[in-house]
Amino acid sequence: MRCLVTSSRHYDREFLDAANAGRHDLVFEEASLSARTALIAQGFPAVCPFVDDQLDDEVLHTLAREGTKLLVLRSTGYNHVQIPTAEQLGITVMRVRDYSPHAVAEFALSLMLCLNRHVHRAYNRVRHGNLLLDGLLGFDMYGKSVGIVGTGKIGTALARILHGMGCSVLGCDVLRNPECEALGVRYTSLDDLLSQSQIISLHLPLLPETHHIINAERLAKISPGALLINTSRGGLVDTPALIAALKTRHLGGVGLDVYEEEADLYFRDHSDDIIYDDTFERLLTFPNVIVTGHQAFFTREALQTIAATTIRNLTDYSEGRSSGNEVRSK
Ligand code: NAD
Repeated sequence: MRCLVTSSRHYDREFLDAANAGRHDLVFEEASLSARTALIAQGFPAVCPFVDDQLDDEVLHTLAREGTKLLVLRSTGYNHVQIPTAEQLGITVMRVRDYSPHAVAEFALSLMLCLNRHVHRAYNRVRHGNLLLDGLLGFDMYGKSVGIVGTGKIGTALARILHGMGCSVLGCDVLRNPECEALGVRYTSLDDLLSQSQIISLHLPLLPETHHIINAERLAKISPGALLINTSRGGLVDTPALIAALKTRHLGGVGLDVYEEEADLYFRDHSDDIIYDDTFERLLTFPNVIVTGHQAFFTREALQTIAATTIRNLTDYSEGRSSGNEVRSK
């Protein structure tokens, strides 16, 4: 099947070409899909977007008009695609249901450890010859309460790691996960989890009901000095409210791999540009905030699985089979 791979980087090409082994006609394009660029997909029956491609109503209408029938997402999350519109237009949307929950869980842990033990500050200090320990005091994670909001695949992988480190794990989810219960995760309400945890990690999908689930009111419920980690989607957190909670020193630290307005910012080099997003820039001024550019998924194993599943999705669709990876609005 002829497929345009948008927002593609050299690593996408490397892993997809290896998984494809010549079965499908893959064309790699660095540009991301938006209303301005949607015509690059003209004549492609399949398009393979990433999370920074904007698949809103306007883009989907252009794709449908120009002959696209299939979107094979290189992601688990699909909040960047207007699924009801795709359905109305007869475009099938398939995703990578899961690749490596370990990649994201281990990255969330790395943000916790880095923030708690101030590794990001120590790295810069030592390079400048400053070997003072002042300002670098952390706490043992052993015996501390860590709250996991969303105990699905990634939340459970994190619960397993934290259990092994001797943490007391609290969980919050609309569904209780038996594997987490077997590990001793104590399920509680979101408000209770926020007030009792020294570290909180978000592992929810971005849905209308989870949009800004961490807002000013919820931030006020977080135990003073606690660390907040978000490796899920930026829209889960109200960023101006987060900045207000950092300015009052209510939060001990924040680790963000995702940002609500990341679509025009992330996966690009802006080192010679002026960044006009003042909210993003303000976040970077706090010594107790670590921002990374949506890299939690970025391991060799995850890229191999994403590529293999994407090729399988293309093959299943072209041979008229359902893979179970189709995304539906209901
Ligand atoms: P999952 O579907 O296995 O788990 C999500 C959990 O959230 C489920 O248990 C679900 O019941 C729960 N949930 C849904 N709505 C809820 C609500 N309102 N309140 C409480 N719980 C709720 O998903 P996953 O594979 O663990 O991934 C979680 C998220 O991580 C994805 O949706 C994606 O946005 C994000 N992600 C980020 C990266 C990255 O590189 N940063 C990579 C992969 C996934």
